[in-house]
Amino acid sequence: MGRSEELFERAVKVIPGGVNSPVRAYGSVGMTPRFIEGASGPYIFDVDGKKYIDYIGSWGPMILGHNNRQVLDAVIRRAENGLSFGAATEIEVEMAEFITSRIPSVEMIRMVNSGTEAVMSAIRAARGYTGRDRIVKFAGCYHGHSDALLVKAGSGVMTAGVPGSLGVPQGCTKDTLTAVYNNLESVEALFEKFPGEIAAVIVEPVAANMGVVLPDPEFLSRLRQLCTREGTVLIFDEVITGFRLAFGGAQEYFGIQADLVTYGKIIGGGMPVGAYGGKREIMEMVSPVGGVYQAGTLSGNPVAMAAGITQLQILWEHPEIYTGMQEQGQRLYGGMERLVEKYEKPWRVNHV
Ligand SMILES: *Cc1c(COP(=O)(O)O)cnc(C)c1O
Repeated sequence: MGRSEELFERAVKVIPGGVNSPVRAYGSVGMTPRFIEGASGPYIFDVDGKKYIDYIGSWGPMILGHNNRQVLDAVIRRAENGLSFGAATEIEVEMAEFITSRIPSVEMIRMVNSGTEAVMSAIRAARGYTGRDRIVKFAGCYHGHSDALLVKAGSGVMTAGVPGSLGVPQGCTKDTLTAVYNNLESVEALFEKFPGEIAAVIVEPVAANMGVVLPDPEFLSRLRQLCTREGTVLIFDEVITGFRLAFGGAQEYFGIQADLVTYGKIIGGGMPVGAYGGKREIMEMVSPVGGVYQAGTLSGNPVAMAAGITQLQILWEHPEIYTGMQEQGQRLYGGMERLVEKYEKPWRVNHV
């Protein structure tokens, strides 16, 4: 028995399923999870000393590879000055200025601690701003584990959301409407059914959590027009695409501006960070300026900000990182596509 197996045996006794997030459970891999000891550049090493090419990259944050020297140095320097103060710090202002001056749709931004938190806060802001309760999400899009967004995807368009998890009260999902990704008519039908009642439409601009489903060329731009016409806040959940698909995320890649954007993963450089931002008039609804309450003891944590901003600066200063990723990605999918063709398998390699 290897060390990973030993650790897993201990872990399942004290952590549900032995893991702190279910995606790590290897349920569909059919083996016990590998416990990771460390990493370097493109490699990770498990506790048994095995070396792997890391295609996961912590689900996005390690976009520069592991142990980037500049990021590490920034973290260490910052940590030596104290880990957390529960008070404002300069680096939070720098982070907000850095992002708002480079992402056109983001006029103001609030830092939080995870993608889940970013999304639930953005939705609250949108509801506060519009004075409406209902939201539209798309079946198959993942927006974190907050109650209102854990709805079961039914067949076709559903009117009242059904909880997709035990422990989520009916009341928490009754205002969550589910539409069909890439199907504008399904959204239009909801607007017709609930005129003037929909606060926000939230979408993964590239659906990355049901495999990879690309948006139809017209889908996002028509969603933009529809939301503008209906006075509904369009939220791009860029937790996985932000600073990754392009520096400006899907907004830049597809040339569409959302009213609110949520970030996570990449924005923290490997630290637990999320953020939501967008139009000033919506963001000024958030406390302490406005009546939408949202707070966080560790939000904007200086050590986390140091990791995040340093990684974002590197990405901003080196656009060739994005073209390089595209070329490397092309080699990978290109190879897969050639194999699929060669063996005449009914498979498709989706990528963007
Ligand atoms: C990962 C993800 C989330 C949730 O972020 P956490 O940091 O895991 O809470 C939300 N939305 C999208 C699109 C994601 O990929």
